[in-house]
Amino acid sequence: MVQLRDVVEDFQKLQLDDTFRFSCHPDMACFNGCCRDLNQYLTPYDILRLKNRLKLSSQQFLDQFTECHTGPRSGLPVVSLKMLKDENLNCPFVSPAGCTVYEDRPGSCRTYPLGRMAVRKPGRPSCREFYILIREAHCLGFTQPRQWTVRQWKKDQQLDTYNEMNDLMLDVLSLKRSGQKKLSTEENALFYTACYDLDRFRDLTLEKRLWECAAVQKEMAEAIREDDVALLRFAIEWIKRSLFGETF
Ligand code: SF4
Ligand code: SF4
Repeated sequence: MVQLRDVVEDFQKLQLDDTFRFSCHPDMACFNGCCRDLNQYLTPYDILRLKNRLKLSSQQFLDQFTECHTGPRSGLPVVSLKMLKDENLNCPFVSPAGCTVYEDRPGSCRTYPLGRMAVRKPGRPSCREFYILIREAHCLGFTQPRQWTVRQWKKDQQLDTYNEMNDLMLDVLSLKRSGQKKLSTEENALFYTACYDLDRFRDLTLEKRLWECAAVQKEMAEAIREDDVALLRFAIEWIKRSLFGETF
């Protein structure tokens, strides 16, 4: 798969108040044309939202809808959405009426026609971000008159929550890069479980009392029993400390 960072130089960079013209609706000739034959990588937060939307356990969701690969740069497990084996290689969630998981669709679907790049220096609370416009020939959305700023698009698509959760992984990738540590097979399996198979990670956390070695607050230890977002936040902290040796 071509990574965003590999093609970014070919695209116009947009700042928050830059504008673009775009809209997408069911009357367009291209409607649903973009929801097929995709290399759709899923973040841990995408999976959390989708498995809860579909009322599946994380393991059921992963088994039914995803494939696991090794990230070409990071060497870490990454997960992609498995397209259907029909003639169009459709996304499993597309229907004639559009996206059936619309309110919980992955962050990259929400961000399109923009792509987002974010970098964060270790220890810094906020990241530097910029956007690019991904102008694809088959997409007629660019012929529409509606004008947006990037800021307006982010708000309309409720991107802040997705971006905040996805950015938590930036620290993990930065630790991985700086330490040059190669995970063992067992550590890779733990990384996969903590990031993607969240319900199984909850069982592991409760069974092994993992919060004790990660020195989390009592409130956090309580929250991770019920709250998937709190659990994912904890999972990422646990990865940083237990797999990449970050000290707090
Ligand atoms: S191709 Fe573009 S305009 Fe057409 S459905 Fe997809 S996003 Fe919307
Ligand atoms: S999740 Fe929804 S928006 Fe994203 S590719 Fe599938 S059908 Fe399209």
